[in-house]
Amino acid sequence: MTYDKSIAAFEEAYRVIPGGVDSPVRAFSGVEGTPPFIEKGEGGYLFDIDGNRYIDYVQSWGPLIFGHRDADIEKSVVEAVKRGLSFGAPTTVETELATEIVILFDSIDKVRFVSSGTEAVMSAIRLARGATNRDNILKFTGCYHGHSDSLLVQAGSGLATFGTPSSPGVPADLTKHTLLATYNDIESVQKCFADSPDGISCVIIEPIAGNMGLVPADEEFLKQLRTICTEHGALLIFDEVMSGFRASLKGAQGISTVQPDMVTLGKVIGAGMPVGAFGAKADIMAHLSPEGPVYQAGTLSGNPVAMAAGLTSLKKLKANPSIYVELGNKAKKLMDGFMKAAQTAGIPLVTDVRGSMFGFFFSDKVVKNFDDALQNDTEMFAKFHKGMLDRGIYLACSSYETGFISTATTDDMIEETIKVAYEVMAEIKG
Ligand SMILES: *Cc1c(COP(=O)(O)O)cnc(C)c1O
Repeated sequence: MTYDKSIAAFEEAYRVIPGGVDSPVRAFSGVEGTPPFIEKGEGGYLFDIDGNRYIDYVQSWGPLIFGHRDADIEKSVVEAVKRGLSFGAPTTVETELATEIVILFDSIDKVRFVSSGTEAVMSAIRLARGATNRDNILKFTGCYHGHSDSLLVQAGSGLATFGTPSSPGVPADLTKHTLLATYNDIESVQKCFADSPDGISCVIIEPIAGNMGLVPADEEFLKQLRTICTEHGALLIFDEVMSGFRASLKGAQGISTVQPDMVTLGKVIGAGMPVGAFGAKADIMAHLSPEGPVYQAGTLSGNPVAMAAGLTSLKKLKANPSIYVELGNKAKKLMDGFMKAAQTAGIPLVTDVRGSMFGFFFSDKVVKNFDDALQNDTEMFAKFHKGMLDRGIYLACSSYETGFISTATTDDMIEETIKVAYEVMAEIKG
């Protein structure tokens, strides 16, 4: 496989775009080689500008649950485009998509659409602060909630502590209101509440974490989280931008019995178009402008073309609930295959699956939180990634990302991927 055209394209991009990319992880910094520049996608495959074909397990980082160029979604988008790209005025398709979501999620009476997951979470946090009249928020180390200021905070230690910004340009004055706790560790949460005399407006969590690798929260932990939030009058926010319509039709809420106060959605909800959403019970949403005083807006929010894509996708998912069983079985088959390949080569590996989401770490330790995740062998991952890519398997270019199965991922593709994994595992061991 050659990448000459991609290498040249990357150099050219580098001159006019910082790092050559519009989102940092695309730059392949954590793995070997340069990123293939994509020409097109078709079903379960990606094609780069050098003419290489890959089996795609990234799927635009989650949105494409029906793979590339699904005929129904494409048709509804083309029809919407012909009516006009944007009006900045209400359209009925927004209400239709909102209604589908409200019916699906018990935790949501009303929902507002925005244009990205970042915007959804940012708006949800403002609403939580406005509704509770409290400034502090609590997040978990290793959970990603987009790149807005208050949320761009990591932890140096697993102890409950006030956050320091993880990027220059984020004022410490702002992130001092972001408390950090350890995923799957209720004591660290209790400590945050005990240390916050002014109270905490909200606890935000990825109930199935997908941004430190795939690390699901324990059911017991989520239950304890629910209890402590209720006791302290803090709102529990499930960030289901990734897990929504992915882990199950209802995301984590289709797997766990725990009900959040607010939900953020993104990725699959737009089927590849820029859409995010946040929703909650009516009394919470009533604080939002123009009903209430908490301001939030967007010129392209609820864009009719994006709404059409999302609505078609969601209707297809609802009409075929067995999709998730099939996707889950394929994900399990893939991870079982990776596991056997690793065992055969004598390489430690741990794997996990939630619906169409899969994750693996080169580690011998079950991963429960970010500190555990950090112990994975990133060099081994980089070699594995390169070996797979060179043989036509497109995996996420970081060991802290989740992989995805789409309905266009066939059993043959899974089998081919496993076969390749055996080769690559044997190679990188040596
Ligand atoms: C991807 C992601 C976001 C951010 O969404 P963008 O559309 O990239 O802004 C937020 N939260 C979670 C859990 C995500 O996976």
